[in-house]
Amino acid sequence: MSRVLIIGAGGVGRVVTHKCAQVPEVFDAICLASRTVSKCKVIASEIKRPIEVAALDADDPSQTAALIRKFKADLVINVALPYQDLAIMDACLETGVAYVDTANYEPRDEAKFCYKWQWAYHDRFKEKGLLALLGSGFDPGVTNVFTAWLHKHEFDTIHQLDIIDCNAGDHGHAFATNFNPEINIREITQRGKFYENGEWIETEPLSESQVWDFPEGIGPKKIYLLYHEELESLVKHFPGIRKARFWMTFGDSYLTHLKVLQNVGMTRIDPVPYKGTDIIPIEFLKALLPDPASLGATTKGKTCIGCLVEGTKDGKPKKAFLYNVCDHEACYREVNAQAISYTTGVPAMIGAMMVATGTWKGDGVFNMEQFDPDPFMEKLNIHGLPWKLTIL
Ligand code: NDP
Repeated sequence: MSRVLIIGAGGVGRVVTHKCAQVPEVFDAICLASRTVSKCKVIASEIKRPIEVAALDADDPSQTAALIRKFKADLVINVALPYQDLAIMDACLETGVAYVDTANYEPRDEAKFCYKWQWAYHDRFKEKGLLALLGSGFDPGVTNVFTAWLHKHEFDTIHQLDIIDCNAGDHGHAFATNFNPEINIREITQRGKFYENGEWIETEPLSESQVWDFPEGIGPKKIYLLYHEELESLVKHFPGIRKARFWMTFGDSYLTHLKVLQNVGMTRIDPVPYKGTDIIPIEFLKALLPDPASLGATTKGKTCIGCLVEGTKDGKPKKAFLYNVCDHEACYREVNAQAISYTTGVPAMIGAMMVATGTWKGDGVFNMEQFDPDPFMEKLNIHGLPWKLTIL
């Protein structure tokens, strides 16, 4: 039995709270905390079980530590923004509780996706006998577990990994992002990068694309090469991988809007003086765009995220695609959220469950693929993200 503190009452926080509440045998008490406590209250009111709520500025580790002590949390699930990761890890170290997140730390002034800051906490978590589980969303998260499962059961060696993320949903807006707009746009507008033969090769943003035919009626879609954080940990933990890439679908309208916004400077992350004050354009843009948490009611269609793997089994070449398909409207019916929040929030709950039940044990900072994938894969099927394997 575990007392879980969930930080961040956004789209993902809503799903994590609903899903933790569905598993009272593991999470016997739940507290949802965020900067704006009214958002926590709305989510709590949707759930039959009592959910405690609290106002919290998680940039301040002393506030988080005080709340952890007051609520007597055993475990923190951080689904605020990547900017808060280190401050929340500091609070977990101070109070001696386990930590789970879904996105790697990013400094506010530099759109840089890498694990070095969080991996640097390994020895401190190890000394305290605590576990920090990094990247327990879908990608990173389930994609790491998929790779570990394929490595364990289907392949002797994996040579090539392509993570493919498709959102074939339509939210009815001219332009909106499916998760936090600031984090999303920072991720997409950075230079592309992939791994080949021990080296990282950079590409111009969104300059490489191909068409991939998605299963279950989604059909062919254009996918674009991006850099994504799980590539860093996966090539570290599976050194046999010779090539690793990440691909995502984007519609033409989305890309046209993004290009215009970039061209006029609206995606800049540096302060711009305006009428005697400093404005960060991407933060202002976030204020104009639809709140991703509000898209659930109008989004229709499916997502498909999976790992396309090439390698060998019993000395013979083998290729497989392991994936999940998720339906936006079904997610909304269950937890009032669209599938991007759902596919992130469910694995965050399952990762927390692995830690809370001691199914995954370890002292230090760990990525998902470092643990036995089997119990996590079993829970995906039970808690709303069933997976399928196609041998190609
Ligand atoms: P939202 O912007 O919808 O929600 C973030 C929430 O965090 C907001 O409610 C905000 O509170 C809260 N917050 C921000 N700063 C603070 C702070 N200093 N203290 C306390 N609370 C704070 O984002 P999403 O729910 O879409 O995404 C949440 C996380 O999930 C992000 O880190 C994102 O990168 C990650 N993610 C991971 C994915 C994966 O597959 N691994 C996929 C999608 C998202 P308030 O509203 O009160 O300001």
